[in-house]
Amino acid sequence: MSNQYDVLIIGGGIAGASLGARLAGKLKLGLIEAEEQCGYHASGRSAAFWMASYGGDLIRPLSLASHADLTAGWPSGERSWLRPRGAIHLSGPDTDYRDVLAALQSADRNYRIVDREELERLVPGIAPRFTSAYTEPSCTDIDVGGFLAACLGAIRRGGGQVLTGTALTGAERRGGEWVVTTSAGELRAARLVNAAGAWADRVAERCGVAPLGLEPKRRTVVQLRLGRTGLRDLPLIDYSSWTDGFYFKGEGDNRIWLSPTDQTPDEPRDVAAEEEDVAIAIDRFQRTVDWPIEAVERRWAGLRTFYQHFLLAIGEDPTAPGFNWSAGQGGWGFQTAPAMSALGAAAILGEPPPAQFDGLDVQRYRPRRWEELRAGQPSA
Ligand SMILES: Cc1cc2nc3c(=O)[nH]c(=O)nc-3n(C[C@H](O)[C@H](O)[C@H](O)COP(=O)(O)OP(=O)(O)OC[C@H]3O[C@@H](n4cnc5c(N)ncnc54)[C@H](O)[C@@H]3O)c2cc1C
Repeated sequence: MSNQYDVLIIGGGIAGASLGARLAGKLKLGLIEAEEQCGYHASGRSAAFWMASYGGDLIRPLSLASHADLTAGWPSGERSWLRPRGAIHLSGPDTDYRDVLAALQSADRNYRIVDREELERLVPGIAPRFTSAYTEPSCTDIDVGGFLAACLGAIRRGGGQVLTGTALTGAERRGGEWVVTTSAGELRAARLVNAAGAWADRVAERCGVAPLGLEPKRRTVVQLRLGRTGLRDLPLIDYSSWTDGFYFKGEGDNRIWLSPTDQTPDEPRDVAAEEEDVAIAIDRFQRTVDWPIEAVERRWAGLRTFYQHFLLAIGEDPTAPGFNWSAGQGGWGFQTAPAMSALGAAAILGEPPPAQFDGLDVQRYRPRRWEELRAGQPSA
């Protein structure tokens, strides 16, 4: 096995795998993943939905541009990764959706206000504190496992190598290439792509590149079995409060996935659900609907990693030739992956992204944008 690559991607989550799927077959590609299996960290712990309203002004164009590829089951085309679900955004004592809804409706008239009477029909047993809601019919589930596996399959079919159990421990730029030390020996590459999720700043430092200031934040999900059936197609019920927020969606006939939408600053590590966050989730759920909880069947947590909360870093680092980033995907790494990977691959190949991504301005997502904004430099 040769240890020489044109591009070596660090990280086998959806960011690294989807970028690899775009590049495979076009150049000599390697992907290294520290764990024994790809998708073990954030990409194996998501709540698995696509929602256009999620993530704000920089994220929305990426989510919308990604929809066609997710629908078509890119990169394998074996089936669609999306399954219709719909969402209901609740309005209650400490959140008012009117401003956000007005902005959303200007782009898509399908968002619709629901009064208390209709809300009671849509979510029987809903607590009186929720006075109304708006619906987002285009929200879908994403088959995240199928999507990740298809990306890894595309890398292999294109002649790329996926090396699991291989952690980057250091790298040095010598004579126009990177000499990379890993837990499984030395590798060389003309270009590195840092797609190491919560570890991306650490990987940068090990390569002698300044960190971006990424912030990993822990989020918890619990799977509850309820004394209620018919939940398979329950819309995503979302309450976007800073102090009392949650979402839940049906998972099978009598189960839900529930998150207290926690965002607790944490370290890059194998995080687990904390007892307190599970208790908060259950308390918020019980103050929302009168559906009896029979069992807490599963609980987990993952790290959503942010670049100043609203930015993303894609493309070559202006301070480090041959060092690219695909980082800061926060809570929307799956729903933006087709677009993120298209922009990332275009930057590497020096060619325009596929036509459906034409409207995206890659300059808005460039690494070091935060430093530029902070320094007051003109910025796209
Ligand atoms: C609870 C929760 C709910 C979410 N819900 C959604 C949702 O509904 N929709 C959505 O779109 N997104 C959602 N997300 C966000 C989404 O899961 C992430 O944005 C996405 O998985 C990030 O992918 P990644 O590849 O950047 O990171 P990761 O999946 O963490 O992959 C990074 C990989 O890099 C590897 N690595 C680290 N250091 C090294 C090294 N030195 N050498 C080699 N490999 C290394 C790690 O082992 C890891 O596997 C959610 C996240 C969480 C936690």
